[in-house]
Amino acid sequence: RSKRRGRGQITVYSHEIAQEMKRATQLEQALRNAIIADEIDVHFQPIVDLCTDSVVGFEALARWCDADLGYVSPALFVPLAEERGFIDPLSEMLLHKAAQAALCWPKELFLSFNLSSAQLTDPTTSGRLLAIINQVGLDPRRLELEITETAVMADADVAQKIVTDLRAAGVRVSLDDFGTGQSSLGRLRDFSFDKVKIDRAFVSRIAADRASEHIVRAIVSMCEGLELEVVAEGIEDFAEAVKLKALGCGMGQGYFYGKPADAVATMRYLAGRHRANALL
Ligand code: C2E
Ligand code: MG
Ligand code: MG
Ligand code: MG
Repeated sequence: RSKRRGRGQITVYSHEIAQEMKRATQLEQALRNAIIADEIDVHFQPIVDLCTDSVVGFEALARWCDADLGYVSPALFVPLAEERGFIDPLSEMLLHKAAQAALCWPKELFLSFNLSSAQLTDPTTSGRLLAIINQVGLDPRRLELEITETAVMADADVAQKIVTDLRAAGVRVSLDDFGTGQSSLGRLRDFSFDKVKIDRAFVSRIAADRASEHIVRAIVSMCEGLELEVVAEGIEDFAEAVKLKALGCGMGQGYFYGKPADAVATMRYLAGRHRANALL
């Protein structure tokens, strides 16, 4: 009897796996179609100087809203594209769009663009990314690339070479989601970054939790010594902004300053800030 039940469970289990695989394959097909139909968009979230409250750049974030599936998070479809081997065409299309949008912004604003792990294991990545911004006409000194520690770890030598090539061309590199994942302080010493982005996990608890405050203080102080710029991610209210400023954090990003918005809304946002400044 128990044997029968056991077998039954296996059937249910494999049925669930089959369903899961089917869903992933449907999502993959929908994503491939969306790429071909040019339905993946890029939104932009402002990054501000915490001292002056002025916008210094924008992070590009991929957006996909499918007619049947609805909104699909990039945290879901970016890893899927990596897994199924088409992250390069997707990422390159996104960089092309993002760079084109950035051309319309004031020249002093930078564009920050996320790279995925798979892109950091291929030494030809740097050349292809530089070719895209060159073709669009965006100054490489206005481009910043965000990479995570996990991505660097996959193949540290290749990642190092890609970063070195990009930085030689004037592109800046930031370490995203710092403090989560397999953080190793040695990586900050051995790897050449320009900037560290403190993960939202610390920022969201900074007003309530002394431990998070101490951690952020330590990261800021360490970055000062290493001559790295610091951005706090996920600032959602005034209290967090005040606290981070007091801790000496140079830059911030989050819903408090602006949610990710499409290219047109971003231009409106910049125009609005420009008018507001003129009134002061
Ligand atoms: P990330 O690079 O760490 O991006 C920050 C995420 O935090 C974004 O989520 C952003 O919308 C969200 N966020 C910003 N401010 C706040 C806030 O105040 N509160 C809260 N709760 N969230 C905030 P999003 O857009 O869903 O992107 C998720 C992740 O997907 C990104 O994390 C990044 O790892 C990845 N991603 C997005 N676009 C791309 C892309 O074009 N290429 C690659 N490789 N990855 C991308
Ligand atoms: Mg990022
Ligand atoms: Mg992040
Ligand atoms: Mg993240």
